[in-house]
Amino acid sequence: MSAFLTNSELPFCKGCGHHHVVRSTVKALEGIGVKPLDVILVTDIGCHGIVDGHFATHTVHGLHGRSVALAAGIAMGLPPGKKVIVYIGDGGATIGMQHILEAARMNVDLTVVVHNNMLYGMTGGQPSSLTPRGFRTAITPQGTSLPPHDLCRLVHDAGAPFVARVLGVGDFSEILRQALETEGFALVEVLELCTSYGVKWNPQLRLKALAEEAGYPLGVWTHPPRPAFRLPARAEGPRRGEGLLDLPPVEVRFVSPLEGRWALILSGSAGEGIQQAAEILARAAMAAGLHATKKGSYPVTVGVGFSTAEVILSRSPIFYHGVEEPDAVVITSIDGLRNQQDRIRALPKGVLWIDASLPVPETGAEVRIRDFRRRAGARHAALYALWTVLWETGILPPAALLEAVRESSLADRVPMEIFAVPQP
Ligand code: SF4
Repeated sequence: MSAFLTNSELPFCKGCGHHHVVRSTVKALEGIGVKPLDVILVTDIGCHGIVDGHFATHTVHGLHGRSVALAAGIAMGLPPGKKVIVYIGDGGATIGMQHILEAARMNVDLTVVVHNNMLYGMTGGQPSSLTPRGFRTAITPQGTSLPPHDLCRLVHDAGAPFVARVLGVGDFSEILRQALETEGFALVEVLELCTSYGVKWNPQLRLKALAEEAGYPLGVWTHPPRPAFRLPARAEGPRRGEGLLDLPPVEVRFVSPLEGRWALILSGSAGEGIQQAAEILARAAMAAGLHATKKGSYPVTVGVGFSTAEVILSRSPIFYHGVEEPDAVVITSIDGLRNQQDRIRALPKGVLWIDASLPVPETGAEVRIRDFRRRAGARHAALYALWTVLWETGILPPAALLEAVRESSLADRVPMEIFAVPQP
């Protein structure tokens, strides 16, 4: 048995072209001399995808139609020398067509093998957008009336250096080898007939004749080689301002007495700096050697209504960033109060800091009423509220917050006089 397989008894129906795809892939991989663990096979939803467990390579099973996007992300993060292969059906290619075209346009370094048996085999045989006109399926017993996309032509026009269409019978490993050796994006469309559905409804059809009648020419289409897409961060290391890592790494230079975990909800109005204040708190915590997460929620109309941030600070790594029972809730406006009032009423303990302009809901938490808005103004009330919370709890040195403000884009805009010792 090949070193690329864990089990040579493939899980497909008798006569299914998927057998030939797997065998040809294995032979092509053996031919280019890679090791099984240098290969990442990303499969989509469909019969082809149940082959995952048969491969001795890395395997990743994606959502329907998303395997090319998933594989593109994997390929962009890998060092040279790895081979990323996508197995996808014509249904998945239909759903994820834009992902395929973008990966071709960008020349992402991966090989896509489209198992085109002209229908969604796993869900009972419905037509895809690659189903040729006249082909009968579960929901088109008279034959599909729409013309199919010519996937190879679309992908070639999108700029892929290597595109091929083959019949899914016998050994087509040489074409797959060429695809795997292409620098950048390669796609091989394998025409097949699903013996369970396609043959049942189209018993008279022969694959070669079908390809000719459908206007599916077989062949190879190439463009001159061009460099595969690489992330700037991988090629040269991250640079500030490139959008990938806009912020410098956080140096630990403060000390926090926090032993366990502390969770805060900060809620106010959109446009009043809630999310940025929460991010600054998280960075201040990291500068004090803590792990920190921040999760934001707000309406799709980002400029009106509430804005809520959940922040977790912890001595140990945080594996879930949601806050179920906060230790502290900070409310700076009526929008924030409306958004959080049910949670505040249900709080059995913890501390609620609330702006003095607001009604205080019934709660099991200790209530601290403070003048956030009047002292710092609406735009900076959230930041001032966090400053107050740090002074009153001692969770972090307030100087850590001040330093994080100075390192943020707010440095020139926030009036520094708000960072005085808060008045009760
Ligand atoms: S149902 Fe069709 S596509 Fe799926 S394994 Fe069987 S023959 Fe192949």
